[in-house]
Amino acid sequence: MPFSRYLKIYSNSQLAGQYLLYSTKKGSIVRLSEAKLAAINNGTLPDNDISILKQLEMLVDDPDAERAAMADIVARSNRLSKRFKATVVLTLDCNLACPYCFEEDFRGRYAMNRETAELLIDYVKREQIAKGREVEIRFYGGEPLMALPMLRSIAVQLRAVAEANGTKFTCSMVTNGTLLTCAVVEELLPLGLTSAQVTLDGPKEIHDLQRPFVSGNGSFDTILENIKAVYTLVTLKLGGNFTHKNYREFQKMLDALLDAGIDPARLDPIQFAQILPKSGQAVFHDAGNCCLSCTEPWLIEAILYLREETLKRGFKALKPTMGACMVEFDNDMVVNWDGSLYKCPAFMGWPELSIGTLANGINDYRHSHGLDIWKNDKCLDCAYLPLCFGGCRLLTMLKKGVIDEVDCRKEFYDAALEKLSIKYS
Ligand code: SF4
Ligand code: SF4
Repeated sequence: MPFSRYLKIYSNSQLAGQYLLYSTKKGSIVRLSEAKLAAINNGTLPDNDISILKQLEMLVDDPDAERAAMADIVARSNRLSKRFKATVVLTLDCNLACPYCFEEDFRGRYAMNRETAELLIDYVKREQIAKGREVEIRFYGGEPLMALPMLRSIAVQLRAVAEANGTKFTCSMVTNGTLLTCAVVEELLPLGLTSAQVTLDGPKEIHDLQRPFVSGNGSFDTILENIKAVYTLVTLKLGGNFTHKNYREFQKMLDALLDAGIDPARLDPIQFAQILPKSGQAVFHDAGNCCLSCTEPWLIEAILYLREETLKRGFKALKPTMGACMVEFDNDMVVNWDGSLYKCPAFMGWPELSIGTLANGINDYRHSHGLDIWKNDKCLDCAYLPLCFGGCRLLTMLKKGVIDEVDCRKEFYDAALEKLSIKYS
């Protein structure tokens, strides 16, 4: 019986004569002896073993049918989707002045007004709740907690409409953490708050340079105090943005969390990421500290290094899982403060990537956003397809100024997937 296309076979460095099979589709891992691997290849594997490997989708009856199902998987998810997810930009104002902020060129005292909020609520009610979908709103900024009254008003209204229609409303936020006090969290929990994503850019000395208050003062101590105060009340997703110059210092941030008495088991996986160029700019050459590609050797090393340091200290790290760029999903969108609609928050710097407005509806964005760009022979035959689906459209936009090709991660996965998926699983 043939192997799945979406399978990697690694020789087990810990045990001679043993192999590790990793399904990129299911995330499952199986250890096999050399003899069993040979039995698969020569068709003599016992039925019982075949049945287990089939259940794990490592062996398949019909590889062409598997390929066709993979080509349809995003469309299928769209057809079956019972959930609407929107990232809602409440304000582009912020109390921090991070020098690398991708919104720098269009940030300002712009905030969603009552009319736009009403359009949003009407849209969600008419197009989503009325069709039986659950609603997940991710409040975004600028700093969304600088628009707390609007956040509260939208959450109260959507929760009431969802409950009246027998469906569910939840919300989360991407916040810099400076205003995320115990009182704010306690107020928002009954309104549906489930989680908050907070950024700590490394240890205090790095964070305070990368994420100062508008006044110039450092924000590390304020954020750490707030994390301590709320992390047992609401799920916190912590992350930090590194450069090739400073990533080796980031484990000190994890130490600072431990020193503050924070229990790593109570936090969601820590997610570190490289600083990207600013939105709205195409970068064709020197990107300074910024990284345009996940294939750069330093970045692969940084990701593996920080993952190891994270796990060593008892924090969780993200595992590779099946996933595609948000542009592919019909029921995911970004609602800007003025009612303009986008498919990724980082696209807000390119007005030409707006997909419409709350007032006038959604335009056809299939071509401009490279939908289905991964439906080509190379990607459909690639073992990494379930993890990649053509990569990040933003990275292609930053590199080329237009989304007309995949952001190929093959080199990255060739170099890193074995360690990301197996070493610490
Ligand atoms: S373009 Fe990139 S950053 Fe934006 S949603 Fe897609 S994968 Fe994420
Ligand atoms: S973009 Fe590259 S890594 Fe991604 S599925 Fe296509 S060939 Fe594979």
